[in-house]
Amino acid sequence: MPDGSISGRPSVLVVEDEAALATLLRYNLEKQGFHVDEAGDGQEALNRIAETTPDLVLLDWMLPTLSGIEVCRQLRRRHETRGLPVIMLTARTEDQDAVRGLNTGADDYITKPFNMEALIARMRALLRRTGAVPAKGSLEFHDISMDLTTHRVQRGGRAVQLGPTEYRLLEFFLRHPRRVFTREELLDGVWGRDIHVELRTVDVHIRRLRKSINGEGELDVVRTVRAAGYALDTEAL
Ligand code: CA
Repeated sequence: MPDGSISGRPSVLVVEDEAALATLLRYNLEKQGFHVDEAGDGQEALNRIAETTPDLVLLDWMLPTLSGIEVCRQLRRRHETRGLPVIMLTARTEDQDAVRGLNTGADDYITKPFNMEALIARMRALLRRTGAVPAKGSLEFHDISMDLTTHRVQRGGRAVQLGPTEYRLLEFFLRHPRRVFTREELLDGVWGRDIHVELRTVDVHIRRLRKSINGEGELDVVRTVRAAGYALDTEAL
């Protein structure tokens, strides 16, 4: 059990020297139930982590004193922090291939400016993957419920069978009901950065999700927003 966890809330260390972005991250992450700690430069980050190991580190690439890459390398070198989940924040101007090729040991990268929901979805996915925070509880919307422990999905009391992608897609929607997501945002949040899939793949899985979740005579809960994307919504257009 990482000692950074406070009352079951996942803890995240935000390492970012841009104060405005650090504040924005703190605000959004706390709203989503994370315990947030901050460090403004690379050396401070290492000191903080040595004191209290968080469940996850959001690490900016360009930092004073020690760069994000160097911080990540040092974390990977030490036994205690070798498996610590790290998401690197990089600027669009930095060559993405170079970022990946440097093999810093980060678990994931996200490019600034980023979509907050996509970042949080990736953080949750990484935390689950590393087992730092087991998925628990359930998500509900309208007459749909998703049990995050057993992965059982029900609609109006009947069991719904979903493929793994449709499950993740529905989970993403259930975490942000009524919000309209573009296909790019869905790809980013559900499929992740490393998988290069075409935008129309999203449509294919939306179709499958609809087929499984909407029983005969039931309301279509997936709203298509013309020229924008999709939302989990019960409001007809
Ligand atoms: Ca920076």
